[in-house]
Amino acid sequence: MTRTKAGYKLLTEAAIKFDEMYDDAKAAGHTLDLVGGYRTFARQNEIFDWDLYVATGGSLNDTSPVRGATRAKSGSNGNTAAAFPGTSNHGWGTAIDVARNGSAGDLAIYWVMKNGYNYGWSWYEGYAVNEQWHFTYTTDSSKLKEYPLDSSNRRIVNFSASISSLTTPPGSNTP
Ligand SMILES: [Zn+2]
Repeated sequence: MTRTKAGYKLLTEAAIKFDEMYDDAKAAGHTLDLVGGYRTFARQNEIFDWDLYVATGGSLNDTSPVRGATRAKSGSNGNTAAAFPGTSNHGWGTAIDVARNGSAGDLAIYWVMKNGYNYGWSWYEGYAVNEQWHFTYTTDSSKLKEYPLDSSNRRIVNFSASISSLTTPPGSNTP
């Protein structure tokens, strides 16, 4: 693992390509702040339990450490957005969550959607799970594509989900 210019650790190869992307984004006027990178198994467990708690009726605003989540859906993702512990690519150090710091953060995220494929950073999985902040590092060229922006640079062409309606657990993002 290697620490990136944005603070989080990633698999070394992924970190090197992230730092290249970070510099080019900076030159284009965007700061790629991260709120997620390499994540330990224990942390993924915690996030999964939190997500499951909310998915089964718990309050989104309940941030108490013990939330009474039950592993009723153990063995599958169930209704949770967080990957089942042990299966998240955050655990391999090949996933990032880009910070949503208001409109500046969203513009940075759109920049990565459009340009990330040049650096091995794919929005393929983030798109599939409706998470605009989640990008994965891959060498699979079928998952490396440009998501074109409209003329405002604030919207992905043909992307219908309401980005502002998406929610995240406090202090962390999923999967
Ligand atoms: Zn993520």
